[in-house]
Amino acid sequence: MKRIAILLLALLLVQSSFTQSQNRDPLNVPDIQDFISLKCDFHMHTVFSDGSVWPDVRVKEAFFEGLDAISITDHVEYQPHKKDVPTNHNRPYELAKSAAANLGIILIPGTEITRSMPPGHLNAIFIEDTNPIDTEDYTDALNVAKDQGSFIFWNHPGWVRQAKDGIKWYDEHTELLNSGIIHGIEIVNSNNYYPEAFEWCLEKNLTIISNSDMHGSIASLHEKFEVEHRPMTIVFAKERSSAGIKEALFAGRTVAWYGKKVIGKETFLKSLAVESLELEAAHYKNDKSEYRKLVNHSAFHFYLTLNGKDLHLKPGSEMIITGSIEDQDYQFAIKNFITENGELKVQL
Ligand SMILES: [Zn+2]
Ligand SMILES: [Zn+2]
Repeated sequence: MKRIAILLLALLLVQSSFTQSQNRDPLNVPDIQDFISLKCDFHMHTVFSDGSVWPDVRVKEAFFEGLDAISITDHVEYQPHKKDVPTNHNRPYELAKSAAANLGIILIPGTEITRSMPPGHLNAIFIEDTNPIDTEDYTDALNVAKDQGSFIFWNHPGWVRQAKDGIKWYDEHTELLNSGIIHGIEIVNSNNYYPEAFEWCLEKNLTIISNSDMHGSIASLHEKFEVEHRPMTIVFAKERSSAGIKEALFAGRTVAWYGKKVIGKETFLKSLAVESLELEAAHYKNDKSEYRKLVNHSAFHFYLTLNGKDLHLKPGSEMIITGSIEDQDYQFAIKNFITENGELKVQL
């Protein structure tokens, strides 16, 4: 009997040590311009505010989905589960830390400062201590976060509950911008893309941010919106570390990846496209045409137009394209890569 019990225990231990060997989506995004491309989600909730999962679950979801970094950003001012889960603002980070270390996920301490509009909701990430951010006046809260060296961004500026008459930039935001408090804006939150916020980022030199703002499980987001992966911010960092991400965010080296769209400055989008796509030399030619293989090494979809013809190149796949032998101009328009100049054009 004792031997059976030991055997069962051993089996249980073996099984638990294998539970983290499930397949992970590598979610290939090429490195560009001497930077490492890091897939990040800087906005999500747990039971410590109005989310419905324990903090380490957020880390595991991010791991299986191919992310490099996350920040758990529970609300400072709103804890509907506080009868069951005590108010302890730093606890979600502490509880998720060891899972992050085990799985190689960069975990960034963060919080959501949750006020009415203006200024609305703002995330502060790279915070040292959330407790002093719990203040009456929002400017005090934001100044504490700023003094801790946080990177602060405005969340979901077009959220219908706070923007009933449409998305709007308020004088309060100008003040926050002028005093160096806000550094970025979510141009994407969950299933919403705010083109106006993209314009503000370009105009006011703010960093482009795209996040899931998950409250339930990530699987529920996939099902609800029929997406392959969550919205995320691709950060172009000098090193794969928390410090590397922080430097890149303050320098504005990011793009938004949302469903099948990639949105950001042309310089980054062009490099991402060029590094993702490979147009091989012709494997066959006749009198008029040549035949070439176009390979997509990345997890991006490419909705291309070449010589007036629409093509859809799926992640990690390839296709044969034909071109005129006389006019070998492979100028592609990429309709789902959106820059300050509209859809991206690349020459391969
Ligand atoms: Zn919010
Ligand atoms: Zn939120």
